[in-house]
Amino acid sequence: MFIFEKCLALFTFFTLVLSGPIFGNDTSSAALPYGYAGSTGPNVWHKMSAEWKECATSKQQSPINIHARTTVAVRDSQLLYPAVAMFEVFYEAYALRVQLVPSDPQEFAAMLGGRRYRLVQFHFQLPGEHTLEDEYFPVEIHFVHESVDVPGQLAVVGIFGDFLKGTGAPDPIFSSLKNQLEVLRRRKDARLHASVDLKGVIRNIETSTIRYYNGSLPFPPCSEGILWYISEEPVRLRNEEFQDLKKITKLNSRHTQNDLGSPNLLAMACPGAGCLDEVSSVGR
Ligand SMILES: [Zn+2]
Repeated sequence: MFIFEKCLALFTFFTLVLSGPIFGNDTSSAALPYGYAGSTGPNVWHKMSAEWKECATSKQQSPINIHARTTVAVRDSQLLYPAVAMFEVFYEAYALRVQLVPSDPQEFAAMLGGRRYRLVQFHFQLPGEHTLEDEYFPVEIHFVHESVDVPGQLAVVGIFGDFLKGTGAPDPIFSSLKNQLEVLRRRKDARLHASVDLKGVIRNIETSTIRYYNGSLPFPPCSEGILWYISEEPVRLRNEEFQDLKKITKLNSRHTQNDLGSPNLLAMACPGAGCLDEVSSVGR
């Protein structure tokens, strides 16, 4: 119990955002306080800690179904990344995902909504967490950025990954990681390096319609104020590349939340006053 409480204290919002295991590169936490299914899944996150209540009460929760009527089309978004760059690649056990951290973050700028950001890391969600006009995708890549001007302000660029279609070409971001994914599949604690080809995702953000909304962290503590930029156009991957990713990450997506500003779905499902206040021993 004490160790669990101590872990929760460590995962306060700013620790988590700036230096913790979720958005940083510290994989020292052996504990796995939350999951994506069953008794540690998204339906009970709010019961696992008093600090995670927002998961069941906030009305700006992510991910959402992206509608033209509830999000804003933005122009001039740019990922000012090198076309090919070195990343540290590892399995982030705490968050159940393959994570890539740039060797030199100073080289990775992004212009989003007229503001300048730096890339902190990117990772894969399977299946895609957002849906687009009710359509879901097998993969969603999240490029997590922090504002250069406003410390702690996060902006996440989401690009869907969908299966190769017709004579189209697969995006090289996936083939860049083939060898590393094979190693991670055998040894989840491996820390590897990869030269990642980013040309396809850079072009995607320049040419696709980008939908913006102000949402939340899609995992505990579910804090609001995260800026989301979701590309309408998916990048393509081969079935084998999807299988390699899937074998490692397994299911690691939160289900879509209610429309922005509408009641939290868990609050709607709660049978009466006070039922969200209970903090249970679920998952401990
Ligand atoms: Zn993510």
